[in-house]
Amino acid sequence: MQTSIVAPFRDNEERRLATLADYALLDSAGEELFDSFTRLAAQVSGTPISLICLIDRDRQWFKSNTGLDGLTELPRETALCAHTILTDDILEIPDASLDERFANSPLVRGPSHIRFYAGVPLIVSTGDTLGTLSVMDRKPRTLTADQRAVLRTIAATVVEQFERRRAYARLFDRAPAELYEIDAGTGRIVFMSDAACRNSGYSVAELPVISLADVLPALMSPASFPEFVAALRAARGPHPAVRTIVRRKNGTSYPIDVRLELLATLSSERVVALGIAVSADVTGSAARDAIPIGLQNERLLALTGVARNLFNALDPHALVDALIGGVSELTAGGTAQLVARASTGELMHTHGLTSRPDMPVSGDPFLRTAAVRDAVALSDDGLRAAVQILAPSGSMAYVLDIKSTDRAFVATDAFALGLLGQYLAVAIRNVELYGELESRRAAVIELNQVKNDLIAMLAHDFKGPLTTIVGLADVLAEDERFDAESRQFLGMINSSAMRLASLATDTLALSRLEQNELSLRFESVDIVALVRDIVRVFSVTRAIDMRCAADESIVRADPARLRQVFENLIGNAIKYSPRGDTVDVTLREKRGGVEVAIRDRGIGIPAADIPKLFGRFARGSNAREMGIGGTGLGLYLSRTIVERHGGQITIESKEGNGSTFRLLVPTVPAPQRTNDRRILLLDSEDDGRSFIAHTLRDEGYAVYPVANETELLRALDEGRFDAAIVDIDRLVIAPTELVARIARRTTLVRLVSTAEPDAPSWNAVLRKPFLIKDLRAVVESAVADRRRGPRRSGHER
Ligand code: ADP
Repeated sequence: MQTSIVAPFRDNEERRLATLADYALLDSAGEELFDSFTRLAAQVSGTPISLICLIDRDRQWFKSNTGLDGLTELPRETALCAHTILTDDILEIPDASLDERFANSPLVRGPSHIRFYAGVPLIVSTGDTLGTLSVMDRKPRTLTADQRAVLRTIAATVVEQFERRRAYARLFDRAPAELYEIDAGTGRIVFMSDAACRNSGYSVAELPVISLADVLPALMSPASFPEFVAALRAARGPHPAVRTIVRRKNGTSYPIDVRLELLATLSSERVVALGIAVSADVTGSAARDAIPIGLQNERLLALTGVARNLFNALDPHALVDALIGGVSELTAGGTAQLVARASTGELMHTHGLTSRPDMPVSGDPFLRTAAVRDAVALSDDGLRAAVQILAPSGSMAYVLDIKSTDRAFVATDAFALGLLGQYLAVAIRNVELYGELESRRAAVIELNQVKNDLIAMLAHDFKGPLTTIVGLADVLAEDERFDAESRQFLGMINSSAMRLASLATDTLALSRLEQNELSLRFESVDIVALVRDIVRVFSVTRAIDMRCAADESIVRADPARLRQVFENLIGNAIKYSPRGDTVDVTLREKRGGVEVAIRDRGIGIPAADIPKLFGRFARGSNAREMGIGGTGLGLYLSRTIVERHGGQITIESKEGNGSTFRLLVPTVPAPQRTNDRRILLLDSEDDGRSFIAHTLRDEGYAVYPVANETELLRALDEGRFDAAIVDIDRLVIAPTELVARIARRTTLVRLVSTAEPDAPSWNAVLRKPFLIKDLRAVVESAVADRRRGPRRSGHER
């Protein structure tokens, strides 16, 4: 019997295992951040499974697992990933069942049925490979070059997180401050600094089994935790320091001053509690420091605020601004510069993260030594400090060079600056990731647009030639010189071309509908004349009995779209009564509208199919069995169009006994659809699919979606708008600043997803989730206010 080939160990296996232990990742708690990486990896690769696994001495342990539910580890000898850690680059196996190394692995043979595998080794700064980021599928396949490139990027980000964690832990080894990180989603403590462990008596290994209530019992109860997180989120800033107690493992407790803050990176949310124990017995070493403990406390606590600003910056310039501001806050007036370190070791001045560094830094021995140091470097006179920023492999590395203006830096400053460096590394990655995500998002939107444009163009361009074919075939069919058979053929050409034309119309409408662009142009339409005209055309092929009480009935409708509906329904009545029976079309006034009934005596519809027929591509089973051609789009489009007219459509039918389609179009004028009410929209949903845009357009507003504040301000410079609806969860600049810049130019409607206290400077507030009627009311009244006169401030609803 064939067996899987077990991956050999490398010579330096013992060293690799020591490094793995040093990173303290094995058996750590699950983290949303890493789960988001595997989700992203699976998504970009189009695979159902993605893992981050670490290769221990005799097992592979999953730090994150997307798609292999319930599995946390596997024996090492069965691991596909154990082979990947022998390589330096991506290992891709299109079909593992055909590869002798993998064919008998339980993942391949067992119920997981893995066929495709691709893994990227996770190589840390020591050069050791700790594990892999992998993607797997249950069918054979390959990755594109783009997908491989993205996987490498995600793997580099994972490694960087590993590095950050280790550096973070090391800094705290030397620090008096206690730091607790609590997962905002689950309420579990996911990180405790060394001082926190030392003072409380717990170890990091115990994190999975201790709860918040064990360690910080007076701070918040598990039940009130979600509320607490919501309040921190709403506060959008540092929470004032509070005095609470830490309960030690041995049951005793001590007082501590903590400052709490919610820190959100792109992928996770953490409640950070940073504090300093108050009593002398646990702060003995810190008290020896040169500056008073109160001041240290303040500085350290300011750090979370600075970190928050770093994490909130999503473009390079904002990040550098936040950094320089943060340094001056942390060092009481110190100045900073960011220096880029090329892979050659050369140092260059740099003013932003993206601007190409140009001026070499010459003859600065302090910076040269500091640039390669793992920890924070202090100059001999203590007036200068430098921090190396660990950056993902391959991209630029940076050195943060800080000068004090008044006093020498002390250990506490070095500690705070070191942390700042760590935060900066994450923030740089955030900026890069955000840039990548934005461009990928733009590419997807563009691709979708291209697809829709292509469909629309094809459908549109079909119509020209088809008109020619229909017209010429018609002319030729009249020509006496052709014999009966030829004329019959011409008739067939004609009707096939007609079918193609109506398919083109449907496809065009479908693509518009999918883009929310099926806009209706309403006008007064005489529905009697419209139906009569269509009946006249169809009467050429079938006897149609049209009855109508009134000579004229005016409805508000889009005549082209309404025509499409009647052509489809009458066309169906003819198509689905193949014996050639007469079709009846009846119009009569009904309360509030005109009812048009189209009745045939054809094949009818099986009862079970009726409820489904208005769905996209839905077809009746009998029509299919009888081989009557169709796409199943017509009724879907007809109903959409009729409903957009405020009308309705119903079916009455019995299989074998004909069908009646009844359509009610309201005669009451629909609301005046003037598109002169202009709304700017900054919403977090995908622009094209925004529910708000969709709804407001239906209400007759002209909606202009923008992607960010810059576009919003530019639009306001260039045109007049009745209101701007702004999702404040999406803002990069502070809401108050935005209000100040927009005031007087338009009415501001604030879209919020949290229960924040009302802010007086916004004209109206709309809380997610909301009902359509709320949206309608808020926007209508905001627009009315604007039109009535100058903007009134302090008007909330
Ligand atoms: P298509 O006719 O292109 O298949 P439609 O959306 O217009 O698409 O119709 C959907 C299905 O509804 C048809 O495939 C047919 O099964 C059924 N149907 C529609 N109109 C009739 C009718 N008048 N009589 C019987 N069946 C009908």
